Amino acid sequence: MLKARPCLICRKWFHPDRMVGERQRVCGAPSCQKERHRRACARFHDRDPDYDRHTRFTAKLVQVGAGGKGTVPAEAIDWRYARKVVGLEISALVEESGKVLLRQARDAVLVQLK
Ligand SMILES: [Zn+2]
Repeated sequence: MLKARPCLICRKWFHPDRMVGERQRVCGAPSCQKERHRRACARFHDRDPDYDRHTRFTAKLVQVGAGGKGTVPAEAIDWRYARKVVGLEISALVEESGKVLLRQARDAVLVQLK
């Protein structure tokens, strides 16, 4: 059994789980685990405050069912939504850049097949 230590949250003494070992700083009480999780989420969002906004944006940007076999890459993106969010010029720049890259990739594959 590992040496007892005080819980970082409730301050009660506990023995760390042997699977977690010395890394465990919080006891197994549900309220302490919930608080540990809340603090970890707060630290995560302090480090990356745009994470949720980015996740929602990319989820709306990529069409449902995109990425499957036979998907045309440019059609995987909801360009109307992208245009509304980032503006016409930036959206067009990204869309056309994607098309150029796709053409170059296809040409490179065709050259390798010859
Ligand atoms: Zn505790």
